[in-house]
Amino acid sequence: MVTTYIDNIANSLEIATPSPLQALSVRVNKSPVTLWCKRDDLLHPVISGNKWRKLQIILANSVTNNIQHMGSFGGAYSNHLHAMAYACYRLNIAFTAFVRAHPESPLTPTLADIIRWGTNIEYLSREDYRKREHELWLKDICTTHSIDTLVPEGGSHRDSMAGVATIMTELATQASLPFDNIILPVASGGTMAGLIQHVKRHKLPTRIIGIAVLKGEGYLEDKVQTLLEQSNDVGTTASAGNWKILHRANFHCGGYAKSSIQQKSFQSQFFLEHQIALDTVYNTKAFFAAHQLLESGELKKQQRNLIVHTGGMQGERT
Ligand SMILES: *Cc1c(COP(=O)(O)O)cnc(C)c1O
Repeated sequence: MVTTYIDNIANSLEIATPSPLQALSVRVNKSPVTLWCKRDDLLHPVISGNKWRKLQIILANSVTNNIQHMGSFGGAYSNHLHAMAYACYRLNIAFTAFVRAHPESPLTPTLADIIRWGTNIEYLSREDYRKREHELWLKDICTTHSIDTLVPEGGSHRDSMAGVATIMTELATQASLPFDNIILPVASGGTMAGLIQHVKRHKLPTRIIGIAVLKGEGYLEDKVQTLLEQSNDVGTTASAGNWKILHRANFHCGGYAKSSIQQKSFQSQFFLEHQIALDTVYNTKAFFAAHQLLESGELKKQQRNLIVHTGGMQGERT
């Protein structure tokens, strides 16, 4: 039942599924190597890649339950707020964005867009923003703003994971063999948790390798683990599993939205070679990491390696 609702919503929002699976020929220590790429950046011109995957079931449930007003959290460049604001606008659901920013700072292109789509913005201080996981505070803001459904930061929620798993079901129809390794950027963990859950459920021989885009050793593993445990799915609660998150400083560059000269030149070189734009915050870090891991031999070039392009180009605008 929910599936037909998702299809209806995907159709009305013109989501282009399945996203293409593309074989990239990358140069590794001067010789060509195939790196497969799941082009979720091409799913929709506005609703950024993995945000559609994570939000599809949440949005479908909201439409089914006739939800009038949704809310969520993010920064002033947030791909998640941008995607949700647009989807709510098109689905006729009121949306309040709780933004970690000062009300007097100049509007970012992201916030200007979401205001155009009718979003109500509530600015939160750093201190208040930290309460975004406190149950009582969340209840309180729902009451004061008449919000029916609050979605966690990044759209990472128990209901996101089954949506993310559609990446895997698409891959099963696009490729003859399962991939050995799937690489992706990690920030709030929902995308990674969805992939892991699918791999466990279907006992695939696939290793999921997350590239931390912020300094969050331990914190990010906990986020992923908590989501897996919330997914009320026997068999996925075991802590074991074929996944890991890499926290190297030359991958995350010291923090969220930070970059390095090396990564900047990788990003422009990658565009010249493949005509694929990578955003600075997420995909440059993951693609750079994949390339380094291939060069060091930590990723075997004869294996089937896939990277998920999660989108996010709207966040590049300044
Ligand atoms: C949000 C986002 C991510 C991070 O995904 P999580 O599920 O939060 O870990 C990666 N890439 C892009 C482009 C994003 O917008």
